[in-house]
Amino acid sequence: MVIKMPYNKNYYERNREKIIARTREWKKRHPEKQREYYLKNREKKLDAVKRWMKNNRERWNNYCKQYLRTHCVTTVNGRIFGLKRPYPENGCELCNKVAKLHYHHYDDSNLMKGIWLCPSCHIFVERLEQNEGILERYYQLKKYVCECD
Ligand SMILES: [Zn+2]
Repeated sequence: MVIKMPYNKNYYERNREKIIARTREWKKRHPEKQREYYLKNREKKLDAVKRWMKNNRERWNNYCKQYLRTHCVTTVNGRIFGLKRPYPENGCELCNKVAKLHYHHYDDSNLMKGIWLCPSCHIFVERLEQNEGILERYYQLKKYVCECD
């Protein structure tokens, strides 16, 4: 779909902010016009959106994935399944490394009980939990070896 602009491209680029502000102002003063336009063009607009989604499947899927990740929503077969704790702004909650974080959760029925970890901390934490007492044994072993000489 080609949208025809009432002014040329250069003019638009130079006065972008002004035009956007003026349009916004106009829309505020004429809500009924906007509603009328919306109702008249609803089908066309929905078709255009659907067509865009079909032609840009990968981008759309990535957008959805990103949206779900930043809003910490998990879905199963497209249905919202549970909410996670908010994605931290300062990286891994254990070591603060900035990386793509994994969500390590403790309770399948309550995803709020979980922490955001970088991949290496996630592996570390999984090992700790699969081997109860490994941390104590590690420190004992270190102490034993280091105090032996
Ligand atoms: Zn980490």
